[in-house]
Amino acid sequence: MRSSIVIFTDLDGTLLDSVSYSWKAAIPALNLIKGKAIPLILCSSKTRAEIEAHRQQLDNHDPFISENGGGIFIPDGYFDFSFSFQKKVANYLVIELGIPYPRLREALLMIVQQMSTDLKGYGDLSASEIAAQTGLSLEEVQLAKQREYDEPFVFVGSDKQKKRVLQLIEQKGLYWTRGSRYYHLLGANDKGKAVKILTGILRQKLGRITTVALGDSPNDLPMLEAVDYPILVQRPGKVYEETIRCSGLIRAQGVGPEGWNAAIIQLLPRIRD
Ligand code: MG
Repeated sequence: MRSSIVIFTDLDGTLLDSVSYSWKAAIPALNLIKGKAIPLILCSSKTRAEIEAHRQQLDNHDPFISENGGGIFIPDGYFDFSFSFQKKVANYLVIELGIPYPRLREALLMIVQQMSTDLKGYGDLSASEIAAQTGLSLEEVQLAKQREYDEPFVFVGSDKQKKRVLQLIEQKGLYWTRGSRYYHLLGANDKGKAVKILTGILRQKLGRITTVALGDSPNDLPMLEAVDYPILVQRPGKVYEETIRCSGLIRAQGVGPEGWNAAIIQLLPRIRD
């Protein structure tokens, strides 16, 4: 029986270089994917606005997952059957798994008041501060600030204080995760839950599918656990995120997009389609 392949990928530090944000090193693999018409689902802690900019540059028209599984955005008409979704925004049908951003901000501000530590969310930082921390341009920061389901935060303090902040988050019934650059405050959503839901819908369209995912950081673990072929790319310094362990994990030879390219070129011919 024919099996289609679907690829899910993190952006920062995985398909995109962690410093230059370039995906140029992955062009050969991206061309291979395009030639085979394999859906490429961007699954990031980035916002919808940021991911849209990358989709445009990549000429990608597949659904995508924003803000650590907060929202699944499906272009209207992508599926020719009905499925349940929460709202329609622009040209997307949106499956919402995250909780609204204002609730996250409210919780973060309460935690800041309870702690005497230097804890700052995206909402507290100016555009130029974020640009300095991330290397994004001011225009790109404007896209990154359009948050819907996830609040990245930076924290300066001892390990003990850090533990306390994370405990306070959990006591409020909220969750946290760690990406390639920031901690994130969020609801019960994660990349894995979103990948499983979207895989179920893609299966209705494509029949039997083989799933692949690529990531670099702890927030990618649920996504890696949800697919047939999990791939971990190297972080700067040619090291692997040490907390990521899951069965069948493929360790890509190369940092970020370089590892992405090498792993996909090696893996795809091994998957029968
Ligand atoms: Mg990452």
